[in-house]
Amino acid sequence: MPKKNFDLQAVKGTHDILPQDQFIWEKIRKEIREVAEIYSFSRIDTPILENLDLFKRGVGEATDIVEKQMFVLTTKGGDKLVLRPEGTSAVARAYAQHGLSHLSQPLKVYYEGPFFRYENPQAGRYRQFHQVGFEVIGGENDPIYDVQVMLAALRLLESVKLKNLTIHINSIGCKVCRPIYKKHLLSYYKNKKKDICKDCNRRMTQNPLRLLDCKEDKCEQAKKGAPNIIDDLCSVCRKHFKGVLEYAEELKLPYQVDPFIVRGLDYYSRTVFEIFMEETSQSGEKITGPALGGGGRYDFLFESLGLKSTSAVGAGLGMDRIVDVIKSNKINIPVKQKNKVFLIVIGIEAKKKGLELMEEFIEAGINISESMGKNSLGAQLGSADKAGASLALILGQKEVFKESIIIRDMKTGVQETVLLKKVVAEIKKRI
Ligand code: ATP
Ligand code: MG
Repeated sequence: MPKKNFDLQAVKGTHDILPQDQFIWEKIRKEIREVAEIYSFSRIDTPILENLDLFKRGVGEATDIVEKQMFVLTTKGGDKLVLRPEGTSAVARAYAQHGLSHLSQPLKVYYEGPFFRYENPQAGRYRQFHQVGFEVIGGENDPIYDVQVMLAALRLLESVKLKNLTIHINSIGCKVCRPIYKKHLLSYYKNKKKDICKDCNRRMTQNPLRLLDCKEDKCEQAKKGAPNIIDDLCSVCRKHFKGVLEYAEELKLPYQVDPFIVRGLDYYSRTVFEIFMEETSQSGEKITGPALGGGGRYDFLFESLGLKSTSAVGAGLGMDRIVDVIKSNKINIPVKQKNKVFLIVIGIEAKKKGLELMEEFIEAGINISESMGKNSLGAQLGSADKAGASLALILGQKEVFKESIIIRDMKTGVQETVLLKKVVAEIKKRI
């Protein structure tokens, strides 16, 4: 007997992707492959399990991800592992581990798969979600690469017909100028401790830039008059930022400079960006939807991991959010019509013959659906209808005996009998 009150729900924050939604996911995956190929990104797959230290050192101890969002587990041998919360640190690890710096640089790679964060589940926010990421690693830290990853991310979103996309771009400087900005920011917040949330009070000592990232209402209010980081950029960062904007202009990317984009991860330097879709509210007002993706330059990540300094830039997009937006905007993704032909068999001899016939069809490249476990003609016709079949092939005892088969047009109900040996050729003509 099963245990009483056994919870048969998917684990909190996780969700099933059901057969009827797979065509949307498949479409996104297909477009990922296509965009990757066009822009020369090769696929990389890293394990779902990584060492805890990788993210502590890569993403940073004072980030939301490391502080409170990781699924950590201890193996029987006592190792501390994590279900990967993000992809960039893992790709950097793989790059170093396999000496990928010896390949032609920069190395352009992409990945796609599940990621895990212990967050408060809500619309568009899951504990197991899926990301696609594009990374350009090694070579020069030229702003052209920053724009190339933005472009790949944007083209992917456009390829699934998302409209009104905007890239919010900012620069968070480098080791030289960021400390100066942090000082200015802290002096702005000095008298605002009461106006910001508990987390932000903690951020003031641990990670002040993240004060600008908080989504609490009162913190959104408090940050309105905050100093702009662009004013504090050193000349090298300023030049880099100018380069990014010039290339973005050249490509006519739909971008805007947004000094409040800081990103929650420690490894970013200089360029950071997020991509949003503008939506229209019920009252007709323009609103910014959830972030569909984000990224930036991470020239210091490799050093934080104790590796040789390597410049790099990347973007990550949330596939679940893309699917949600496709659904809520009723974007038409064409469903591939398959299994148009349905085989119906009546009696044991017909079942045997039917199995053989299915193989012939498969060899001819035609997929056949069936519900051969059902006995009656009526039940099988019902299944054919539900499956959306346009043609049914009916094989009864009489037909087996006469080596023939009935072709039924499911729409009109018109039937005709053909010789069994000719049926594959006949169906080929019709679909
Ligand atoms: P947010 O500010 O929404 O928490 P983030 O900055 O934490 O996003 P990133 O780490 O930049 O997110 O991940 C890139 C993209 O992955 C996000 O823009 C979003 O589309 C998606 N994403 C991040 N966290 C989740 C989640 N918990 N559930 C679903 N999608 C997510
Ligand atoms: Mg987050």
